[in-house]
Amino acid sequence: MLEQVAHRVWVRTSPTWLTTTTVVVDDDGACLLVDPTLTPADLVALEQELRGRGWHVAAAFSTHAHWDHVLWSLTLPDVPRWATPTAHAAHTDEELAAQAARDLPGHRWDVVGGTMPLAPDTTELPWTGPRAVVVLTPGHAPGHASLHLPDDGVLVAGDMLSDVEVPLLDDTDGAVDDYRRSLQRLAELSAHVVVPGHGRVAEGRVVRRRVEADHRYLDDLTSGTEPLDARLGDPRVRAEHEAQAARFLA
Ligand SMILES: [Zn+2]
Repeated sequence: MLEQVAHRVWVRTSPTWLTTTTVVVDDDGACLLVDPTLTPADLVALEQELRGRGWHVAAAFSTHAHWDHVLWSLTLPDVPRWATPTAHAAHTDEELAAQAARDLPGHRWDVVGGTMPLAPDTTELPWTGPRAVVVLTPGHAPGHASLHLPDDGVLVAGDMLSDVEVPLLDDTDGAVDDYRRSLQRLAELSAHVVVPGHGRVAEGRVVRRRVEADHRYLDDLTSGTEPLDARLGDPRVRAEHEAQAARFLA
């Protein structure tokens, strides 16, 4: 079910890993989909819900090239599905499909991958709806970008600022510093609503606390301190944390 989080912004959350799809709707019903997700059934239900509201999909954006953020369905129209040039080039569609089969087996997705690179130095998505500013936020994945919707005060964060996942770093040199700078960049934006790629939408003062929690986690990770972080109560997240802590201290 789509939930309205701002005047022109709606969010649908899959029960699997609380993965979110964000829908930005223009006055004429044209929609921008951000990270449409997750299972094939979720994507069909999303399409039906959009159609039921009389909306039509005009474009899409993937915040980064992890398989759960680059999905599409044959029931959705063939529209531009942008990603930053670095994110677009990070993985082949075959690699992304293999990631999907490994992480969440038992599904047959219509499309995994197939993004289109934005022109270099693009600052806003080239669509006719509400302004959507591309904010480069590397650290989690190469070319990771968040989307700021300044007219609605909404930030679609990608895989950052989650209440269910700790910061997960890519394996590039300097990923921690990149991640910290990305958090600073997001904290400077004027957004009173944050939609994380996984988890619950944050509003008001909770936004600030999400930023602080991610900084605190990175501080603990880099100093070798065991984090006191409720998000590590999920065994899947704990396993990811232990793997990156081991990598970090190696
Ligand atoms: Zn990710």
